[in-house]
Amino acid sequence: SIVDLEEMTGRWKPAVAPNAEIEPYGPAELRSAIANGELVNYYQPKVNVQTGAVSGVETLVRWQHPVDGLVFPDRFIALAEENGLINDLTRVVLSSAMRQAHAWQEKGLRLKVAVNLSMDSFSSVTFADVVSDAVLSAGVAPQDVVLEVTESRLLLDQRAPLEILTRLRLKRFRLSIDDFGTGNSSLTQLRQIPFDELKIDQSFVHGASRDNTALAMYSASLNLGRELGMEVVAEGVEDLEDWDLVRRTKCDLAQGYFIARPMPASALVEWIAAWDR
Ligand code: C2E
Ligand code: CA
Ligand code: CA
Ligand code: CA
Repeated sequence: SIVDLEEMTGRWKPAVAPNAEIEPYGPAELRSAIANGELVNYYQPKVNVQTGAVSGVETLVRWQHPVDGLVFPDRFIALAEENGLINDLTRVVLSSAMRQAHAWQEKGLRLKVAVNLSMDSFSSVTFADVVSDAVLSAGVAPQDVVLEVTESRLLLDQRAPLEILTRLRLKRFRLSIDDFGTGNSSLTQLRQIPFDELKIDQSFVHGASRDNTALAMYSASLNLGRELGMEVVAEGVEDLEDWDLVRRTKCDLAQGYFIARPMPASALVEWIAAWDR
């Protein structure tokens, strides 16, 4: 059961193109947006490549701007990081995702919910408690929560990030290494932290069946993840060729426009019903 890409493309078309040449936002505007509840979570399914089962969703934040419409995170995450707003943003996104996860569970829908964390938050040792308080107070088990951190920003040679990741792992959170292949983690560093999941960057997935360099990166990442006992996710599965590749190579999970676009929580239950049909 493959979702009609045209339909999904049309339905969630952004009001503002992600790279539109318009005025950048300022920190004051973002600060009040966070405080006033203008951030909304979208959710994109991760599916089991062999069975098609929906294993979980990734939370992707959007800014529902009163004038500009739906604004994508590439226009405000760095702004939040540069202006000391990222912890507030993370708290808002995380608590809302956890309320949602709990609501889905009440409906009998047990999904692993992934949230993106900024490496900027990994300097304060209390961060592990901030995360776990938000999750536990929503009544969600850490085992059902995936924390995604981007490989290129991982600083495993520094003590605080290593310690915080280890603490989170001891609290039974699932740790995921995002955009894998775009950073330069050494094997030694990777083995220091028990990541549960490895997400192969979309640049090594989409079109890889027609690009030998991308394919080499894809295969190497998949094998590394397997060797280290991680669940491997292919990101950026955009078309049938990408989907065939991940099936043929037996990647564990897949995520991408070919399966579903990120969508509001209200659309997810309906999407799953249609997908499972
Ligand atoms: P990411 O974590 O790598 O998330 C995947 C991005 O790829 C998302 O973009 C998603 O919409 C997009 N995507 C999904 N499937 C496909 C596909 O098949 N093809 C293509 N070309 N793209 C696909 P989005 O939502 O614009 O988010 C961009 C980045 O912003 C994320 O990249 C993540 O690094 C960051 N981000 C999003 N939400 C949060 C958040 O709550 N906190 C933090 N710190 N960062 C966030
Ligand atoms: Ca991510
Ligand atoms: Ca990614
Ligand atoms: Ca990315």
